[in-house]
Amino acid sequence: METIKPQVIGEKGLDEIARVLDGANVIVHGLDGVISRWTTGCEQLYGWTRQEAVGRVVHNMLATVFPEPLDDIRARVANVGAWWGELAHQHRDGHTVSVASRWVALLPEGRPGLVILQTNSDISDLKETQAGLAAREAHLRSILDTVPEAMVVIDETGTVSSFSAAAEKLFGYPANEVCGRNVKMLMPSPDREAHDGYISRYLTTGERRIIGYGRIVTGLRKDGTTFPMELAIGEALANGKRIFTGFIRDLTSRHRMEDELRQAQKMEAVGQLTGGIAHDFNNLLTVISGNLEMIENRIDDDKLRELLREAQNATTDGAKLTEQLLAFGRRQPLNPKLTDVGKLIADFSDLLRRTLGETIELRTVVKGASNQALVDASQLQNVLLNLALNARDAMPRGGSLTVEISPAKLDLDYVQMYPELRTGDYVLVSVTDSGIGMSAEVKARAFEPFFTTKGPGSGTGLGLSMVYGFVKQSGGHIQLYSEPGQGTSVRFFLPAVHGDRIGGKIAKPAAGDEILRGHEAILVVEDDPRVRRVAVSRLKDAGYQVVEAETAAQALILLAEHPDIALLFTDIAMPGGMTGDELAREVRAMRPDIKILFTSGYAEPRIAGRELARARSWLKKPYTAMELAARLRELLD
Ligand code: ADP
Ligand code: MG
Repeated sequence: METIKPQVIGEKGLDEIARVLDGANVIVHGLDGVISRWTTGCEQLYGWTRQEAVGRVVHNMLATVFPEPLDDIRARVANVGAWWGELAHQHRDGHTVSVASRWVALLPEGRPGLVILQTNSDISDLKETQAGLAAREAHLRSILDTVPEAMVVIDETGTVSSFSAAAEKLFGYPANEVCGRNVKMLMPSPDREAHDGYISRYLTTGERRIIGYGRIVTGLRKDGTTFPMELAIGEALANGKRIFTGFIRDLTSRHRMEDELRQAQKMEAVGQLTGGIAHDFNNLLTVISGNLEMIENRIDDDKLRELLREAQNATTDGAKLTEQLLAFGRRQPLNPKLTDVGKLIADFSDLLRRTLGETIELRTVVKGASNQALVDASQLQNVLLNLALNARDAMPRGGSLTVEISPAKLDLDYVQMYPELRTGDYVLVSVTDSGIGMSAEVKARAFEPFFTTKGPGSGTGLGLSMVYGFVKQSGGHIQLYSEPGQGTSVRFFLPAVHGDRIGGKIAKPAAGDEILRGHEAILVVEDDPRVRRVAVSRLKDAGYQVVEAETAAQALILLAEHPDIALLFTDIAMPGGMTGDELAREVRAMRPDIKILFTSGYAEPRIAGRELARARSWLKKPYTAMELAARLRELLD
């Protein structure tokens, strides 16, 4: 601040100033603050009259709030000749008057000391506007920090002026790296190049290329990756200039969910078809192999027996195939038991190691104290075997396979992406190889039945589809991670079971390979006459008395007529009227002591989890005479 040399002024001069500037806010006071002149402008601004003011100490009367200590101000006025700054005064009625104040020092004629000429201009309105602006700014800040959607504000040139916290997260830039730069940086080509054109075209023609709601465009993150986003732009006029506010919603997860849903629907459709065919085919196989078996018992010619053997082998292969198809169609009869998945797989690793051969290193890692799930143990081993075979094929020159079992929690976020999944505790099994990996096209189709990239004779395309079906049928979830050259990881989640719940009882294995015989009366219920004929003759061959029925209704009548019937052997799915398990309930009511054995080509979804899932009281079609005989003795003894 430059020094102003105080001018000498007489009392007359001071009076003159006060008179000329009477309408303005002019106060004349000494260094001590005692007021000697008080204009009409001051009366209006502060509410004190001249009579009241003159002689009082100005900063006491106006309860002045100084921006710096009063002594410093006095010193400055004395040394430099002037001071200016903002003061808060109090009006007579108590309200605050903000002023821009200017003090000038004058030398009074004929006496020592200084006089101060204080001129004030009212800046209360300005102050209020500033405070309002600050509040609005704070409000806007809080919106930018909290809106869940990403928000970007740009001006007419495309320069970003605000960038919300959600936008920082979504695009990976901190706000200060974006604000002041052109919004194009958030777009991939070709939008990036075209964007200036969009804005100027809109400004000159009003043609709404970019304004509007719900446009789906592509965003570019700091790390160079892109993502689908929904963009809604609003515009506003500020100081004659347009500003545009963009609200952005990340569509990544919604797109992924739609993909998942489409995939699930496709698999469901293929699964139903496959399951249906396999089911009917199974019945046919039961008939074929049953009849072959009976012929075999009745002929002595070795040549003929040889032919029969071959035919039997073919039915066995056919049965294996239908089993895989049923597994994919989620229709495989499962025998779920409480199983420690970690232990099961660890125990199984010897066999896996042999399957993999010496060039592949197998690592089995079990994490967590409990990895219990209600699953069919032998099918789970089948799954592991299938995955190990795929891994072996993918690592012709060796490598490593890691099987990891650990507890996992699926939360809501995760579950929302997968339409069929529920939140909760799961056992996660991940099988990871260091093999050739899969292209995106192969990955998209890998679970489909009969999809294979392997040459004829080496691949059936049924491995992963069986795995898929099994996991789904067990209430689980499966994911495939794979990149060409980066290896493959198959991860599946099985619903975990906690506590000491005890699973189904374990069956004793049949002794020897002798067919176990019996003499009890058995009621056979089967709608397919050919399947029934096979069952009946097998039972008779094994020594049993047989009563046969085609429908459940007929079975109930026969049961009433034959009090000696010890066991009901019934198909589960029967067209029209009662199903096998409904029949079982009726029979139980009539004869609580009776034993019941179900048979089915697949576990019908309707009854899975009830009677069937509970005990080993069912027999999977096609079954051999030996299996039937063994199961009968298990139930009857
Ligand atoms: P298959 O093994 O008989 O071909 P799968 O259903 O088991 O049938 O697998 C289908 C296809 O998925 C395979 O042909 C192969 O292309 C691919 N695939 C499966 N597992 C792997 C793996 N671990 N690494 C690379 N590709 C795999
Ligand atoms: Mg395979």
